[in-house]
Amino acid sequence: MTESVPRSATRRLSIGGVPLGGGAPVVVQSMTSTDTADTDATLTQVRALADAGCDLVRVSVPTKAALASFAEICAAAPVPIVADIHFDYRLALGALDAGAAKLRINPGNIGSWDKVDAVIDKAGETGAAIRIGVNAGSLEDDLAARDDLTLPEKLVASSLRFVEHFEARGFTSIVLSAKAHDVPTTIATYRALSHELPHVPLHLGVTEAGTVRQGTIKSSVGLGVLLAEGIGDTLRVSLTADPVEEPPVAWGILECLGLRRRGPELISCPTCGRTQVDLIPIAEEVERRLARVGKPISVAVMGCVVNGPGEASGADVGVACGRGCGLIFRHGEVLRKVDEDAIIDELFAEIDQL
Ligand code: SF4
Repeated sequence: MTESVPRSATRRLSIGGVPLGGGAPVVVQSMTSTDTADTDATLTQVRALADAGCDLVRVSVPTKAALASFAEICAAAPVPIVADIHFDYRLALGALDAGAAKLRINPGNIGSWDKVDAVIDKAGETGAAIRIGVNAGSLEDDLAARDDLTLPEKLVASSLRFVEHFEARGFTSIVLSAKAHDVPTTIATYRALSHELPHVPLHLGVTEAGTVRQGTIKSSVGLGVLLAEGIGDTLRVSLTADPVEEPPVAWGILECLGLRRRGPELISCPTCGRTQVDLIPIAEEVERRLARVGKPISVAVMGCVVNGPGEASGADVGVACGRGCGLIFRHGEVLRKVDEDAIIDELFAEIDQL
């Protein structure tokens, strides 16, 4: 395994005012799934993604009609917008004029270096960053045909080629991604990229990760391993689902690793033979109501009065549920006993005071 390089060593960029790289908080992003030419629908989704915790939102610009809407979306969006461009460099130039804070392109499918250079130079003029998005499914022919290289080696070789070209042209506002759909390849590739290009901020993702359950597992394992090693400056969790499902998973990964915290943490026990209440609906209701609490606190919901307060003594506040009652506690210290039907309201009365 190559030695990883901490994210604090990467170049600090500003994406429309959002710091990325150089040890900045790991940036959460997602991508709209609406028809970009439908300005209202796309803006509605951009706002929903921002509310769900996205620092940046990516929007595809596949046509000239989408380009016209894209300018309106950039102007009205609550977060900086990234333009996703494939094949047509004129759309990239148009997106930069329209207010894109960043582009995502695969230079390999833009057509020629002349066209790539026109995009690089325009981004230099507008102050936008560019994510070079290398993908296992669209490697250059000469690299794809090499039998002597593993897939991670091919992805790294392709990335090096592009980064060297951009930097030789004097453009350094680069973010790099090299995505594969399996976790071991993703981990090996990003470890190698971090080693080979320690100054370039990395955008993490497992592409085509699947539906909510499988995609959450793949992303949590793949991106979690990398982030725990100090690799990765921004992430997108890709799910075959409504995109608003993605940022909570990204935040969950960051919160589990102690890298960022957005809201409360729920600690709830798995229940066991000592449990004398129906704990699952209580925990689910507390989780639902906690979604409206913006404070970075920890809240415990435990299934017995004997072990609950002690097992969750690290929580800021909690309830240990017994037969027909609950003990409200703070940092393991019991405050009072309440009736079962008042457990949730009493718990939130305590939370309101934090
Ligand atoms: Fe069992 Fe009590 Fe522990 Fe929950 S807190 S797992 S009910 S011992």
